[in-house]
Parts: sequence; C-alpha cells; structure tokens
Amino acid sequence: LSKRLDGIFNNLGGQGKLTEEDVNTALREVRLALIEADVNLKVARQFVDRVKEKAIGSDVMGSLTPAQQVLSIVQEELIEVLGGTGENNRLDLGGSPPNIIMLVGLQGSGKTTSAAKLANYLRKQGQRPLLVAADMYRPAAVNQIKSLGKQLNIPVYSEPMGADPVDICVNALDYAREQAISVMILDTAGRLNIDERMMNEVTNIRARLKPREVLLVADAMTGQEAVRVADDFNKAVSLTGMVLTKMDGDARGGAALSIRSVTGVPVKFMGMGEKTDALEPFYPDRLASRILGLGDVLSLIERAQESIDQEEALKAQAKLQQGKFDLEDFLNAMHQLKRMGPLRQVMEMMPGFNKIAQMPEMEEALEGDHLKYIEAMILSMTKEERRNPDIIDGSRRKRISRGSGTTVQELNQLLEQFKEMRTMIRQMSSGKGPWAQMARQY
Ligand code: GDP
Ligand code: MG
Repeated sequence: LSKRLDGIFNNLGGQGKLTEEDVNTALREVRLALIEADVNLKVARQFVDRVKEKAIGSDVMGSLTPAQQVLSIVQEELIEVLGGTGENNRLDLGGSPPNIIMLVGLQGSGKTTSAAKLANYLRKQGQRPLLVAADMYRPAAVNQIKSLGKQLNIPVYSEPMGADPVDICVNALDYAREQAISVMILDTAGRLNIDERMMNEVTNIRARLKPREVLLVADAMTGQEAVRVADDFNKAVSLTGMVLTKMDGDARGGAALSIRSVTGVPVKFMGMGEKTDALEPFYPDRLASRILGLGDVLSLIERAQESIDQEEALKAQAKLQQGKFDLEDFLNAMHQLKRMGPLRQVMEMMPGFNKIAQMPEMEEALEGDHLKYIEAMILSMTKEERRNPDIIDGSRRKRISRGSGTTVQELNQLLEQFKEMRTMIRQMSSGKGPWAQMARQY
C-alpha cells in the first residue's frame, strides 16, 4: 500500500476539504490493499463505502495531505471495526471456577497448539489450567496435547480412544472440580471441511458444558474462505471470540476483518509461532496497521526497546532531529539492527523504512561477516571522515580500503548505502515524507 500511495501522495497536493475525487483515488488503493490482505471482497467493498461517507467533505487537518487524511480515517475506521479499544476483546473468565474455554475450528487451524499456548498464558496470570483432549478422531491428536502438557507441566485430561467427546468433557469437569482447577481448555476435533457430525459434536459439548468462552481458532492464511467457516461455526455454537493463528507468517490478517464484519466475533488472541509462548493478546490498532501495510510500529517499538540501548537511541534521535547523521551513527544503527533480529522483518514493520529494507544490499550488509567489514572500514577512517563522509575523496578511499583490508569497491558501496540511508532518514525526520505523519501518531 505504501508504495502505491506514495504515487498518489505526489498527485494530491492541495489542502482544504477532501473532494470526492481525492477520496475515490485514495480509496481505490485502500480497497486493493484490503483485498491483498485477504479481506473478503464484499467486506472490503462495504468497508470502503463506509469510509467514503465519512471522508467526503471532512476538513483536511492542518499538516496532512488529503491522501494522509483519507488514510487516517481509514485507519480509525478499521480499528473501530476490529473492536476499538473496547474490553470485548479480552478473555472473560468471570464465572465461578472452573471457567471453561472451548476451542473450535478446522483441522490444522492450530487448535491444539493454541490450547497449550492459552494454558501457558493463563498460568502466567495465576490461573490453574487443565487441558482436555476432546479430539478423539486421531490418536495422534491425544498424544500431541499430552506431550504439550508434559512439556509445560500442565495437567491434561484424556480418556482412551473410542470414548465419547461429550462424556470426556463432562468427566473432565468433575476432575477439574476435584483438583481445584480454575480454567479448563477444551481441544475439540476439527475436520478438513465442516461436516455435520463434527458440528453436532461441538454443539453437544457446548450445550452440556456451557463454556464461558467459545473461541474459533482461525488460520490467518485462510483468506477468502474464512468468512464462510466462521459463519458456519458461529451459527452452530455461537462464538464468543477468535484466535487468529499463524500471524508470524506473511498473512496480513485480513481474515480477522472479514470474520469480525460478518459475524461480529471479536479477535481475542493472535498466534505468532509454533512455540507455546507464541501467543499475544489482540490489539486492534496493530492489526489495522498490518492490514493496511502501514507497518506494525508498536510491535517494532516494543521489540526495539527490548534490544536497543535506550541512551544510544536517544542520542541518535537527537542527532537526527538536527539533521546530523554520520558514519558512527550508521555503524551504531547497524549494530542495533543486528541485535533486533532479522533486518527485513523489523524494517518492514516501520513505515517508510520498508523501502530501505527492500534494498538487497541492506540485508546483505547485516549477514555473516559484512558488519565486520563495515566496522573495519569505518574504524580506518579519521574522526573527521566519519563525521563528514563527503570529504572522502579518491586518495582517502584508497587509504581507508588498504587500512581495513577491503577493496575500494566495497568502500564505495558502504558510502553509497550510507548516503541512501541518510537521505531517507532526513526525509523522515523532517516530517515531509509521506509516512512521517503516520509514524508520529504512534
Ligand atoms: P489443530 O488441527 O487445529 O489442532 O492444529 P494444530 O494445533 O495441530 O496445528 C497445526 C499446525 O499449525 C502445527 O504444525 C502447528 O505447529 C502450526 N501452528 C499452530 N499455530 C501456529 C502459529 O501461530 N504460527 C505458526 N507458524 N504455526 C502454527
Ligand atoms: Mg488438534
């Protein structure tokens, strides 16, 4: 989205009121972005229509371009549809214990994994969880949850193959009461496609156990299919929420918007990996940014805070604001980025920076020994050269490359990279780049 909108930003210069044409132009791109993010076609169209109504005739705020204004309305609306900042995207464990959480969803969507993740998450919050193996269609399923339970040291209630899933859940409830369990998580069976027998089974379990939460586990990669699946499950068992899994992959999470719009079911958690701690509570603002391709700035900041030296970061920021950025800062930035993890992934979360991340040299620069070479080159420079790389002429280049055991070409490449990064950073910090505005909102 950012790339396409960059073009439009350039074409929309004026200020004042948003005209229908401004809005239409921007919204066409937004609709495409939604569809690219796997939002259901009909949902995308309805969403864009709603934004259009709000946007036309609204005043363009002082410092925004019309396209930015449209985008900010889009983002606000998206957050609203995804659940706003309301409490309904939190897990409800307000009943008398044991509270029951039932997981439903298609085979392979991540129910068993999510059951273990949830148990792990809730135990950290002081709960005493019990996992219940109610998927009796594959022996492997029972073993899978048993081994997850063992790994986490969380009890698993199971019965021999052939037992009736409804009975298992009822017996598990007795067991939970005896053992002073505070929350019970039911891992139910899935089917490649929804079939009647499975639906009857989950309906019966729901009726007998009266779970506090019935969560649909949905694979973020499902895309256009997601709405139908969610609708069917919602009709059968009346869902209270959703766990959107596999959000660590490429999926932008449009399925969440589709499901939410059509069924009203709020997303409560996101699965971010195969490990048992890869579960995050749901934040609508973050998903909204991700769906729009704006970059998940908040996640980035959190991650950066974990790995970045605060003081260094503040220093760098102050320098940036003064428009100064030298090779020493560059080297620092490279070190910090390396610590933050896979460069591309981190940078793609940052508005404006995804362009830098897409420069193949940048990725290369942080792989293997490249950083060492960069370091050697920069250390072979005089202080003055580091502060003001523009003075590095031909003879200085020869001296530096000889001193660092690199070639002049490698040095040229480094200086080139540095210049590109400096330009980009200047644009961002001057607040003129198209994404500077968006970035400031966070
Ligand atoms: P079930 O059939 O619904 O119980 O699905 P499983 O829990 O067995 O998961 C199916 C596959 O998806 C397994 O290989 C899991 O490791 C994987 N999986 C589940 N959740 C996630 C997630 O959030 N991210 C990733 N990358 N993989 C996941
Ligand atoms: Mg399973």
